[in-house]
Amino acid sequence: MTPLFDQILRQIRSTGPITIADYMTLALTHPDHGYYTTRDPLGADFTTAPEISQMFGELLGLSLAGAWMEAGAPSPVALAELGPGRGTLMADALRATAKVPGFHAAARLHLVEVSPTLRAAQAKALTGWSPTWSHHVTDLPDAPLFLIANEVFDALPIRQFLRDGAGWRERVVGANGDALVFGLTDAAPIAGLGDAGAQDGALVQTCAAAKAIMGEIARRIATHGGAALIIDYGDAKVTGDTFQAIQNGQKADPLSAPGAADLTAHVDFGALSRVAKAEGAAVHGPVAQGTLLHRLGIDLRTRALAKTANDPGAIETAYPRLTDPAQMGHLFKGIAVTHPERPAPPGFAP
Ligand code: SAH
Repeated sequence: MTPLFDQILRQIRSTGPITIADYMTLALTHPDHGYYTTRDPLGADFTTAPEISQMFGELLGLSLAGAWMEAGAPSPVALAELGPGRGTLMADALRATAKVPGFHAAARLHLVEVSPTLRAAQAKALTGWSPTWSHHVTDLPDAPLFLIANEVFDALPIRQFLRDGAGWRERVVGANGDALVFGLTDAAPIAGLGDAGAQDGALVQTCAAAKAIMGEIARRIATHGGAALIIDYGDAKVTGDTFQAIQNGQKADPLSAPGAADLTAHVDFGALSRVAKAEGAAVHGPVAQGTLLHRLGIDLRTRALAKTANDPGAIETAYPRLTDPAQMGHLFKGIAVTHPERPAPPGFAP
């Protein structure tokens, strides 16, 4: 039983069931007991692509710098990362782009991060860069924006709705004795969910936070120029229930240990693309991570690093983990959001 479990149980007993989104927000980012607030989960519960190999941050950093050159090398620009974890991706991206003329001189580093624990890790990884931290993308400066986000949108709070006759029943978190349990609200029509094709029993997931954040990023890029590279697991269309928990590296019951388990859902890249386009930006992809990394030259980079690395074996095992369709190569995908007059950044188009 986690401290947060008791707190949520008491809240539900006194004021009724809560949405999955409210539950996720408490479990992940509660100021005292949230999963990301209290720990660095990387390596313990899950490992992300930048933590598997330096090649990931290097290649995506070069793609972002390529987009900056395509945009006419503007200066100054906000070089930003959303949810930077340990800061590994950005450190690798900065090392790889050191020789891109003018890029570092133009870049002001901005990190959007909610977790104090991870902010401290980022400060260590990025000493010398004097990053500015903020809680929200709305706090970024009004300047051309070159942003990257890896495995962040999957952590944003979702809601789930089940089709029932002419209406929808929301899947909510309630209490049964001393347990947290899923329940369903009464059926009601819900504007905006639409009903095209939804059959009785169909489950639809929505993520208002993802739409708000994507909308804000796209609006800034359409207004000031720039590019955003967003990588995560998901698809152009996500169907069904993808809400899941990982605790100690294993799949777990999402309601059993709020604050001690990672909670995620697959990213609906189609929904993100529609929001970005509605703000006047262009969207490229989704492209499978394997394809993206092959296009960016991971094969050459693997061979070059294997010759000089202290541990060439680590490089050789990282390559299939990142690119193989049976590992991260197919489930993970990337989209690039750019100013409408700019081409796809390197890797995001054939
Ligand atoms: N991008 C890193 C870390 C991924 S873990 C990597 O690839 O290794 C998810 C990251 O997103 C963590 O840094 C977490 O603290 C952050 N995060 C979670 N919810 C967030 C939110 N609502 N806004 C900003 N960052 C968030």
